Amino acid sequence: MFSDRLAEIQKNIDASLKKAERSDKVDVVAVSKYYPADAIKDAYEQGHRVFGESRVQDANEKVEILKELKELEFHFIGHLQTNKVKYLGSNFSLIHSVDSERLAEELDKYFGKIGRIQDILVQVNIADDPDKSGVSGDGAEALCDRISQMPNLRIRGLMMIPPLTDEEEKNRKYFAAMKELFDRLSVGKEYTMEILSMGMSDDYTIAVEEGSTMVRIGTALFSGR
Ligand SMILES: *Cc1c(COP(=O)(O)O)cnc(C)c1O
Repeated sequence: MFSDRLAEIQKNIDASLKKAERSDKVDVVAVSKYYPADAIKDAYEQGHRVFGESRVQDANEKVEILKELKELEFHFIGHLQTNKVKYLGSNFSLIHSVDSERLAEELDKYFGKIGRIQDILVQVNIADDPDKSGVSGDGAEALCDRISQMPNLRIRGLMMIPPLTDEEEKNRKYFAAMKELFDRLSVGKEYTMEILSMGMSDDYTIAVEEGSTMVRIGTALFSGR
């Protein structure tokens, strides 16, 4: 059952928090991108509220089917193409994947038009992984500073997807580097760094040990693998 798997994950997160001597908490986004609206409804009925989707049109269909469910929230976590911006509407409480000034400008323009202040995270490609999108570690500060001047976007933090690996420990240094960047951008800025989104099914315990405040978990929650 979803709630059993979530409880197990929560237990592991608590152990990682303890190990890192952290007293704050970690939010779990249930990544429902490969699962139908029914699976989301089932998880909702077991008490979960926040889900992650990576394709705008798929997500919008699910939002429409599930619109009666109070307090249900969707986050957008996938790569966002500028030609999809116009379909976002008010469907996503947080967009994790703002990775360029050009995309940010499109988003700012769009949300200005529909009269919404949109919460966003800046996606950082801290490992310079050619297979991943995201602003480079070196470019992250300038992009955040620039976005903080855009009236219709509100920066809440940073997001990272580590390189694909069989040995998750190898990515620990990237989680740590993100935490360093996050802490550095947390002082003396016009924006507030509140959310550090990193950690998925195979590496969330490492991510939490290194400072993640939000994990995005699909497989381990929905299929138990
Ligand atoms: C699919 C996806 C996840 C979830 O991955 P799992 O390995 O299934 O937990 C997390 N973040 C992003 C950006 C994703 O695209």
